[in-house]
Amino acid sequence: RAKEKGRNDFQIFNSDMKSVSINRLRLENELRRALVNEEFVLYYQPQVDIGSGRIVGVEALIRWNHPDKGMVMPNHFIPLAEESGLIVPIGEWVLRAACKQNKTWQSEGYAPIPISVNLSMRQFFQHNLKGKIRHVLEQTELDPQYLELEITESMTMDVDHAIQSLLELKELGVNVSIDDFGTGYSSLYYLKKFPIDKLKIDRSFVRDIMVDPNDAAIVATIIAMTHHLNLKVIAEGVETEDQLKFLYQNRCNEVQGYWFSPPVDRLELEHMLRYGISVAAASRE
Ligand code: C2E
Ligand code: MG
Ligand code: MG
Ligand code: MG
Repeated sequence: RAKEKGRNDFQIFNSDMKSVSINRLRLENELRRALVNEEFVLYYQPQVDIGSGRIVGVEALIRWNHPDKGMVMPNHFIPLAEESGLIVPIGEWVLRAACKQNKTWQSEGYAPIPISVNLSMRQFFQHNLKGKIRHVLEQTELDPQYLELEITESMTMDVDHAIQSLLELKELGVNVSIDDFGTGYSSLYYLKKFPIDKLKIDRSFVRDIMVDPNDAAIVATIIAMTHHLNLKVIAEGVETEDQLKFLYQNRCNEVQGYWFSPPVDRLELEHMLRYGISVAAASRE
């Protein structure tokens, strides 16, 4: 009986493994097709100056407009894209599309603001990243000061590589921020050595600032530290007015989150660029 059961388990395990790898292969092929057929789209989430309520930046976030499945979120395909290496051409598409869109907004007369683009691990370790980004900036004629690249702490674990790459990016004149700050490896010693411009406080800390005194202390401390290090700071995932007030009182510069707006398509973002975000005014009374 034990033998039988063992064999069954083995078979189940086997067929599971098979279907997992078939699904992966299918998804990988679909991602390749998506690149060719231009099924990816960018959504944009405003970054808001906490004092004035003005939009001072936007983060570009990829979506996959799948012919059958509809809008697919990045968490469903970015990890596999990263593993398979497809993230490199996908990331290049994102970079070019974001720079092009930002240049178009400037040509149309919108007040110039930086656009943030998430870099993947593979992109950050790519040979001649600086040259590739310079090429995109030249092609799209976007002034480098209006491009911000987001990296995560895990990409800075090879400290020498990180410093070298970041220096090269700074030579281009682009801005660099550390995304999801606080969730990964972070050595305060190296933080001051990295030529970065901004920390993005991870959503997980912001979520509980009103209920968890530890998270409140961590967020207040990160903000104070950025002021001492002369870095900008933005809080991610701001969803409530109370969170906003806490961040304001603790001198956070910028905020991003559903309280202001989720990521939206180009037309909705343009509407906000023109008329402002209505909730922002109400929340500052
Ligand atoms: P991220 O870079 O940390 O982006 C912020 C994510 O938080 C976005 O999810 C956004 O919709 C979500 N968010 C913003 N405000 C709030 C809020 O108030 N509450 C909650 N619950 N969530 C909020 P999204 O668009 O699904 O992206 C998820 C992740 O996928 C991104 O996290 C980023 O790591 C990755 N990603 C997105 N676009 C790209 C891309 O073009 N390239 C690469 N390499 N990664 C990307
Ligand atoms: Mg990001
Ligand atoms: Mg983030
Ligand atoms: Mg995040």
